[in-house]
Amino acid sequence: MSQRPDVEPIPLVDLRPQYRALRQEIDEAIREGLESGQFILGPQVARLEAEVAAYLGGGAAVGVASGTDALRLALEACGVGAGDEVIVPSFTFVATASMVRQVGASPVFADITPDTLTLDPASVEARVNPRTRAVVPVHLFGAPADVDELGALCRHHGLHLIEDAAQAFGAEHRGRKVGVIGEAGCFSFFPSKTLGAYGDGGMLVGGPAVVDRARLVRNHGSRTRYQYEALGMNSRLDELQAAVLRVKLRRVEEAIEARRKRAALYGQLLADAPVRLPEETPETRHVFSVFTIRTPVRDRVRAALEAARIASAIYYPQPLHHAPIFGGAAESLPHTEQACREVLALPLYPELPDGAIERITAVVRRAC
Ligand SMILES: *Cc1c(COP(=O)(O)O)cnc(C)c1O
Repeated sequence: MSQRPDVEPIPLVDLRPQYRALRQEIDEAIREGLESGQFILGPQVARLEAEVAAYLGGGAAVGVASGTDALRLALEACGVGAGDEVIVPSFTFVATASMVRQVGASPVFADITPDTLTLDPASVEARVNPRTRAVVPVHLFGAPADVDELGALCRHHGLHLIEDAAQAFGAEHRGRKVGVIGEAGCFSFFPSKTLGAYGDGGMLVGGPAVVDRARLVRNHGSRTRYQYEALGMNSRLDELQAAVLRVKLRRVEEAIEARRKRAALYGQLLADAPVRLPEETPETRHVFSVFTIRTPVRDRVRAALEAARIASAIYYPQPLHHAPIFGGAAESLPHTEQACREVLALPLYPELPDGAIERITAVVRRAC
């Protein structure tokens, strides 16, 4: 199929309209940051940490360099290390599993449930053994994992529950924000996430002991200069990113509601199409950081979208348990493998115009 040059392309994500809407406040925040001459671990990071903790409604927060580092620091702060096993989904971004390796432990992959595409507690339970130390559910695409079941399972077996909430800032499970339900929660401020910086950034939230440990390790294991209480690293969130994030945090509810509204319109317009739509269970609030449908004719739908100049993406084409870096396990995780064959992410961002969703869904319906 040839592309039609006469129609406007629709990108998967466009970060520019949000900046245009908030330009005055963001420019001002950045200018103040530059004028302050303080760029590392100053008042902006401290204020953002307090504001995020207040927004989430529990625990303490520590700003770090990325969501990836938040995972690494959370594992380390929970005492996960060499010889330990950590149960993670296979249907996730690589960092969920690679950080387990980075602290010297081994990721053990469990399957997902086909409704929410998040960790299946029964599959987790089947993998618990005396070496298991932690479980890391991922609130994938902004849909909360079953933290009630997983929390009960962790308490029963004496395991740490560490939430990978990188895609789910603002998502809720039974009225509680994800990230502060487990012992530690990890957020990413990668620009396209629901709360995004203009560069890399992340945050670890949790109880005082976990956050205190992470605070120490993120800054070379040092509270007093040149005195080292722990083997540390440099994983600090910088002041300019924190200043930008503080502006965006004030508007994050609006941005999430705009995502939810657009997801609902997609749902309406695809209600009778032969595709599987993302599900929101009654006890959760989905934040649709990514809008993902499932279809067995994915290649055909993608080709039709491309011909209509509409972007789409596949998160994730390969299950991590098949990835060579994790040993390419022969074991089968059927729901994960099926999801990898069927998922297709469609354009979604808070400023995506309604007309675009009508155009996109018309193409999807025709292609199915
Ligand atoms: C984005 C993401 C991360 C990593 O976050 P970065 O800030 O990019 O390091 C980890 N886990 C999941 C599920 C993610 O989507």
